[in-house]
Amino acid sequence: MKILLVYPNYPDTFWSFKHALKFIFKQATNPPLGLLTVAAILPADWEKRLVDMNADALDDNDLKWADYVFISAMAVQKDSVTKVVERCRKMGISTAAGGPLFTADPDSWEIVDYLVLNEAEITLPLFVDDLQKGTPQHIYASPEWADIAKTSIPDWQLIKQQKYVSMCLQYSRGCPFECDFCDITSLYGRTPRTKSREQVLAELDAIYQTGWRGSVFMVDDNFIGNKKKLKAEILPAMADWVEEHHFPFTFYTQTSVNLADDDELMQMMVNVGFDSVFIGIETPYEESLTECHKIQNKHRDLVAAVKKIQHFGMQVQGGFIVGFDSDPLTIFEKQIEFIQKSGIVTAMVGMLNVMQGTKLYQRLSREERIIQAGSGNNTDFSVNFIPKMPHETLVNGYRKIVATIYAPEEFYQRVKNFLKEYRPLPKKAVRISWCDIKAFLRSVVVIGILGKERVQYWKLLGWSLVKKPRLFSVAVTCAIYGFHFRKIYEGYM
Ligand code: SF4
Repeated sequence: MKILLVYPNYPDTFWSFKHALKFIFKQATNPPLGLLTVAAILPADWEKRLVDMNADALDDNDLKWADYVFISAMAVQKDSVTKVVERCRKMGISTAAGGPLFTADPDSWEIVDYLVLNEAEITLPLFVDDLQKGTPQHIYASPEWADIAKTSIPDWQLIKQQKYVSMCLQYSRGCPFECDFCDITSLYGRTPRTKSREQVLAELDAIYQTGWRGSVFMVDDNFIGNKKKLKAEILPAMADWVEEHHFPFTFYTQTSVNLADDDELMQMMVNVGFDSVFIGIETPYEESLTECHKIQNKHRDLVAAVKKIQHFGMQVQGGFIVGFDSDPLTIFEKQIEFIQKSGIVTAMVGMLNVMQGTKLYQRLSREERIIQAGSGNNTDFSVNFIPKMPHETLVNGYRKIVATIYAPEEFYQRVKNFLKEYRPLPKKAVRISWCDIKAFLRSVVVIGILGKERVQYWKLLGWSLVKKPRLFSVAVTCAIYGFHFRKIYEGYM
């Protein structure tokens, strides 16, 4: 059996980092971990190839080679998925698909021959079994959660690592919280399921043996969902492992804001090499936090929490949302003020996007306020529901936020606010690679000479050299990120 695994294209989004990747001569941020894991679950004697369309073109010859094309995708990849499936149909090649896009709304994917939904550890072996018997069904689904302690180690041989910024590792699935706009708990449950210490180390070994040195993204939706096990078993084991291997990786991940309540946990993460975390801040407005059940963000000084994490040595990337029913008309100013004060350089602000499978979707469906399926792109200008405030007010207010926080003056001021607070461990701050040097030289030309933000760029670099010389490379990275974010939002203005 010949299986072609295809990861469809992302549009040009905030998280694609497309305009930043050019500075470091990379094609994509992360490889498709789901498909690499699927490949490892498939029978060992099947032939497998993988095309990540974010890193390589999907050639007709690749399709012709395959007996089946397996696709994995999220909502944001929908348009590309449709094109790939149509190409396959024209060429008479059968398709099988899984992942959040298909699990959330299987009825929309009649054009796919086989839908392998929910968690692949459970449904994929059933499909493979039927395929081998010659009796495959159209849909495979299961309400059960997989025991991820038994999940196979991803098949890293299928990708060209040099095309990516980071490798990936999943330690847990699920989240103990229940924010009403988020589909993680319906996809993966509220009780975090975790891998064993041995398994995490085996996955680190597997990445290390490929020769990779650099960044590793722990892809968990909430890495600290089970703090007890993390602190007692996983982080101590990772600390020993990175030391034995002379600190080959840095890590970044996603957590809830209650990370800031646990000094010991933050210190353990920093010691292992975590240098960045993404946190859903959503809104500084308490009533809107109540509305969306973001209880972990309530009754706390969110700016202080962010600064504390930065102070421990981890950059905070933040998600922000406008468009909640409770949002007052002043929300746009409040968000700008919060983001500037917090020093969150990578601030992903989006209008509420109502995704299928969420509690919010159920409520707004009952209220007959859903207009169309969510795009999964948190930063485009489409609104897929009827908001409480006038649509035009919401869109114009949103436009004002992103136009302000990514304007050169405000953006570079925010970078400075961040660098003043940021205290990374010394050994990590001075590690400069050849790739960093190339990125810096390119930034000098593209931003420092040709960019409209060149004055702020040189001012920041000058300030960094005098006040924070150890953080010079971080300042350059932030400038490159800012260039990407401006390009993304300019595309929508
Ligand atoms: S904390 Fe994050 S992952 Fe968990 S439910 Fe809320 S938004 Fe989703």
